[in-house]
Amino acid sequence: MCGIFGIYRNEKAAELVTLGLFAEQHRGQESCGMAVNDGIALRLRKKMGLVKEVFRPEKLTNLQGDIAIGHVRYPTCGASSVYNSQPHVVETLSGPSYALTSNGDIVNYIELRKDLEAKGVYFASTNDGELILKFIVYHVEKQGLSIIEAIREGMKHLKGAYSSLLATKEELYMFRDPYGFRPMVFGELQDGSTVVASESCALDILYPRWFKEVKPAEIIVVNKLGLTHIENDPAEYRETATARHCIFEHIYFSRPDSFVFGESVYKVRMNIGKLLAKADNVQADMVIPVPDSSNFIALGYSREKGIPYEIGLIRNHYVGRTFIKPDQTIRDESVYQKFNALPYFFEGRKVILIDDSIVRGTTLRKITKMIRNAGASEVHLRIGSPPVRYSCYYGIDTPTRKELIASNKSVAEIQEYIGADSLQYLDIQDLRKAVSVPEDYCYACFDGDYPVL
Ligand code: AMP
Repeated sequence: MCGIFGIYRNEKAAELVTLGLFAEQHRGQESCGMAVNDGIALRLRKKMGLVKEVFRPEKLTNLQGDIAIGHVRYPTCGASSVYNSQPHVVETLSGPSYALTSNGDIVNYIELRKDLEAKGVYFASTNDGELILKFIVYHVEKQGLSIIEAIREGMKHLKGAYSSLLATKEELYMFRDPYGFRPMVFGELQDGSTVVASESCALDILYPRWFKEVKPAEIIVVNKLGLTHIENDPAEYRETATARHCIFEHIYFSRPDSFVFGESVYKVRMNIGKLLAKADNVQADMVIPVPDSSNFIALGYSREKGIPYEIGLIRNHYVGRTFIKPDQTIRDESVYQKFNALPYFFEGRKVILIDDSIVRGTTLRKITKMIRNAGASEVHLRIGSPPVRYSCYYGIDTPTRKELIASNKSVAEIQEYIGADSLQYLDIQDLRKAVSVPEDYCYACFDGDYPVL
């Protein structure tokens, strides 16, 4: 999973991209980067680390230019190295330069890369953003296509998820795969410059006049003529009748103050909580969320049931997302570094503990133990999604089925492993009720129905 941000024709491009990427830091904390163009030169800075470390104010002075694109990375495919961070750039001897950032995963990466390599194209990384860029540049520079034709050619051959930004010296291109797996919104600032981001929360901080979604299979070109929308018919490029937005963006990934896929993440999470409560008859003294991703799920649940919502777990916000740590030992320790139970709060009380999802079971096993040690008499787990049984190939980091607890254990066995008094997941039919157009979503991590492989 990653976050992208871009801006066209703004003197403070580098500063604004820094702010936008900072608002999307939750989408990737491993590395970040930015490419800025002033019409003559392309300047690139990318490094391992957080946005505020990599783009300190003194570093921005070298990033002159008014067209800029940036990226925060959370590795799903490819090694953890600066080579795999984005943007990727190509500078040609004849003059044109190209920079690209993308959010998603290309499932036929190996096949397409081999094909391009056989034609003499060189690769410096194992990242699919570089594949998308090299595919486009090859078709423009060697086959004589326009950039729009090359992106269309890409839509025919690149299988998988991509919400991408391509910057040249003069133009900014936004395009999204025909399934619309990953979110992407664009808008206009008060001064007329165009901005584009993975999530609307990153546009909000710049007070846009308006913003809307880039549609599946749409290409938007921004240049001195303004915005040109090329609305391709997604049906020509995909194997399903409808879009396949990632439902996990609503469950976990996106910020609750964002609109993704045309709906408010906060509302979807509240709906999930209500639906979870309706299907449940457990009684308890309080409902508590595992902060922060399940806050609104727990709030919806508590309102529906009339059981008080309490904040019994305190989260250290400086640890980062537990799941993102590279190996299991570090991951185990960071659950304790990240959460603590309120003292004298749980003694003798029955708790409904809400989390958005269970992936490996690491987090909830530790937290359940923590709450029991703090004196809780019963801990009932309620999960705002169905069991995650299948790996995601479209940009969420659930790489092997072996690591997914629900693909190896029954619900009763998971309950026992975690040490809870009861465990209930959201039913997939209820999950479908939580969003406004259920047929437009991908549920492959729950039902194994992969729209493209
Ligand atoms: P685990 O401890 O492995 O069961 O991970 C579950 C926790 O990680 C949940 O509390 C989620 O908030 C979070 N989570 C779920 N899916 C992901 C993901 N793909 N990337 C990062 N964190 C996730």
